[in-house]
Amino acid sequence: MSLEKAPPKVSCPTCGKEALYHPQNPWRPFCCERCKLIDLGVWANEGYRIPVAPTQQELDDEFDT
Ligand SMILES: [Zn+2]
Repeated sequence: MSLEKAPPKVSCPTCGKEALYHPQNPWRPFCCERCKLIDLGVWANEGYRIPVAPTQQELDDEFDT
């Protein structure tokens, strides 16, 4: 019985780096806590600004005279 099987690896959805898909990695499928937080948008509330494009509906309203 071998427990030395190589754990599967996935690409981190945030940075694309190799991430261990294994219980050892609590942030899987992300490579680290930071990438998981970024993906969840947590940073948006802590000064990490992601530009938000106005929706088409908002653009329509603006030019509706
Ligand atoms: Zn990452």
